[in-house]
Amino acid sequence: MDILVIGSGPTGLTVGATLARRGHRVTAVDRDRGPRAAGDWRRRGVMQFAHAHNFRPQVSWLLQAQWPEAFGAWCSLGPEPVDLGPLGLDAGPVVVHSRRVTYERALRTAAADVPGLTLRVGHVDRLVEAGGRVVGAVVDGTRHEADLTVDASGRASRLDGSLATLGGDCGMAYVDRCFRLRPGVEPGPVTNLIGWFGRFDGYQALLFPQETGHFSVVLIRPTADAALKQLRHESAFEAACRAIPALSEWTDPRRARPESGVLVGGALRNVYRSQRMLPGLVAVGDAVSTTTPTAGRGVAMVSMQIGALLTLLDAGADPTTVAEPFGGWCDQYIAPWVADHIATDDAAVERWQGAELDLTRPLTSAAIHAAGDIDPRIHAYVGPFMAMAALPQSLEPAEPWARAVYETGWRPASSEGPSRDELVAVVEGALAAA
Ligand SMILES: Cc1cc2nc3c(=O)[nH]c(=O)nc-3n(C[C@H](O)[C@H](O)[C@H](O)COP(=O)(O)OP(=O)(O)OC[C@H]3O[C@@H](n4cnc5c(N)ncnc54)[C@H](O)[C@@H]3O)c2cc1C
Repeated sequence: MDILVIGSGPTGLTVGATLARRGHRVTAVDRDRGPRAAGDWRRRGVMQFAHAHNFRPQVSWLLQAQWPEAFGAWCSLGPEPVDLGPLGLDAGPVVVHSRRVTYERALRTAAADVPGLTLRVGHVDRLVEAGGRVVGAVVDGTRHEADLTVDASGRASRLDGSLATLGGDCGMAYVDRCFRLRPGVEPGPVTNLIGWFGRFDGYQALLFPQETGHFSVVLIRPTADAALKQLRHESAFEAACRAIPALSEWTDPRRARPESGVLVGGALRNVYRSQRMLPGLVAVGDAVSTTTPTAGRGVAMVSMQIGALLTLLDAGADPTTVAEPFGGWCDQYIAPWVADHIATDDAAVERWQGAELDLTRPLTSAAIHAAGDIDPRIHAYVGPFMAMAALPQSLEPAEPWARAVYETGWRPASSEGPSRDELVAVVEGALAAA
């Protein structure tokens, strides 16, 4: 079968390689040329490419099972597989700590050696429909015929004309910066095996350790908080890092040096799109679901989708109409994660802006999780949810226990560091001094 994949990001390359490994003739088209042998790799149209990433185990599991050469290429670029047993995950060694550029470089390298997979540079202008089905696409003004067209064009996907069935802008904005530890320096504090997480009155901070001493610091605020927008200035960002003890230890110039400027993230969105259900077309990856980086679930959801798509095809589903069963699977297993992000992120923004926890509404997964600090019965439900082995609704039995915790007046403690108002003063002081 001739397959056209639109996009050579994580989804396009992995779908393309795994379908080519099943004997199909696959062409993946992307406007990006791929990495040069040396120097920077900037990805047009993928604003998050240079931003902080970490990787949940699902990403490694898919590659280990379906495309081991890519997993090997990834590890060969520096990321060390870790055992998540201490988090209660019988996962085998998985890569969690990696820069996005390293992961995509590995996929690109491995893709070049997959027989039957052709990587083409070009812009897909539009889909071609005939007789009620998609029969390919127009690439740089020329028709490219295909039995199946895979829309892997990412979060800005507009090609198949489908509208978001769920979600939209999440009201959060962020800045981040990549650093690298100086040779021989030990990493700073972490709150779990994934990295460091800081909960503050009015904002949130994350730190993702990555391969070979790299790490990224992310500061997230309500989009409406104009004063904290100034964190995009290097002096302000550096002052904020100095004011938060855990980040200060990581980013102390004697221990680490910046590897990038302060990167300003674009609009953060939680969106779910249903399949358009046209024969000859299937959408996969961020073209289906996009979530904010607050839980680092994006590429895991991409990987879960690709695993499900391959399972359907291996079980005999007709590739040209696979969107129907695949769409049903996504409605059941992907949409709930987007809905969970919408509820959790909305509540976080409200909290950052000073709202009290509203106990007349169902508690979010994040609120249930936090209450596990007080009622340990909650842990049994939170573990599988956090590992994405159980859907968000699996937390429902623990909700009354968490509610009882909050009804006592207990609230999760803030991490050590400035409140939002104190951080604004830090930022203003830094800008005045600069
Ligand atoms: C700020 C931020 C931080 C994130 N952090 C994490 C994290 O820590 N962990 C995690 O797991 N996930 C994270 N994610 C999510 C993750 O980045 C996405 O899930 C991932 O990029 C999805 O891959 P994709 O291949 O579906 O889409 P993309 O990576 O967007 O790739 C789509 C490709 O299609 C190409 N394309 C689009 N349209 C056309 C066209 N018409 N013609 C030709 N080419 C086209 C684009 O150029 C691009 O190369 C984050 C997202 C954001 C926004």
